[in-house]
Amino acid sequence: MTALRIAENLQHVRDRIAAAARRSGRSPDEITLVAVTKYVGAAEARALVKAGCHDLGESRPQELWRKAAELTHEAVRWHFIGHLQSNKLARTAPLISWLHSGDSLRLLEAVSAEGAGRGAPISALLEINVSGDATKHGFHPEEIEPLGESLAMFGGIAIRGLMAMAGREGGPDDARRDFARLRKLRDRLQSAWAGRFELKELSMGMSGDYEIAIEEGATFVRVGSALFEGATSDDIRP
Ligand SMILES: *Cc1c(COP(=O)(O)O)cnc(C)c1O
Repeated sequence: MTALRIAENLQHVRDRIAAAARRSGRSPDEITLVAVTKYVGAAEARALVKAGCHDLGESRPQELWRKAAELTHEAVRWHFIGHLQSNKLARTAPLISWLHSGDSLRLLEAVSAEGAGRGAPISALLEINVSGDATKHGFHPEEIEPLGESLAMFGGIAIRGLMAMAGREGGPDDARRDFARLRKLRDRLQSAWAGRFELKELSMGMSGDYEIAIEEGATFVRVGSALFEGATSDDIRP
């Protein structure tokens, strides 16, 4: 029952992603759904993979390690989306395809060292605190541009775009404003940093606002609770 419900939820979310893409004149193929599995166990995560979703996201290193170990036989691309402390990096970096939450130069430098060590750059996004929420991690939008030169020295990471969350308090209009801000910042950095980085990706939008994010240009949406509604015994809450 649970696996069936998860497959149905996945289809529902995919349909809404496709509809939001078409509404804004985009192709649904431009958008990757990252299924955030932090509220559930390995069995539910496996049900998602079996239903055809191969991009999974975790915000806590220990959860990622645990699920990655249980899903070694599945084809999973792991996305790390939370705050990553340096002491968890060595064990996390080898498991991930994407780091969404590059939120400090120190972290990005350490990730780069890992990427250089394994001989293949790790794809990374720069997390930006667009809402100005004091509890959120990420670079301040105004501080990022001068960092281009430092970032360009980190040969073990490939910086491919920006990531943000909408402010916790606001409604849909505030979310749209935050997402539009991220897109405009990306456009600005893309020209300021021309030739250094290709900033194609925008990781923005969660269960409550992923359709708005797609209308504003998201290429990754990170969706958790909407995929597991009615599928676990516990009430899943963000
Ligand atoms: C938990 C989480 C999500 C998913 O949240 P839902 O509202 O459950 O979809 C997305 N991004 C980040 C960074 C998260 O921590």
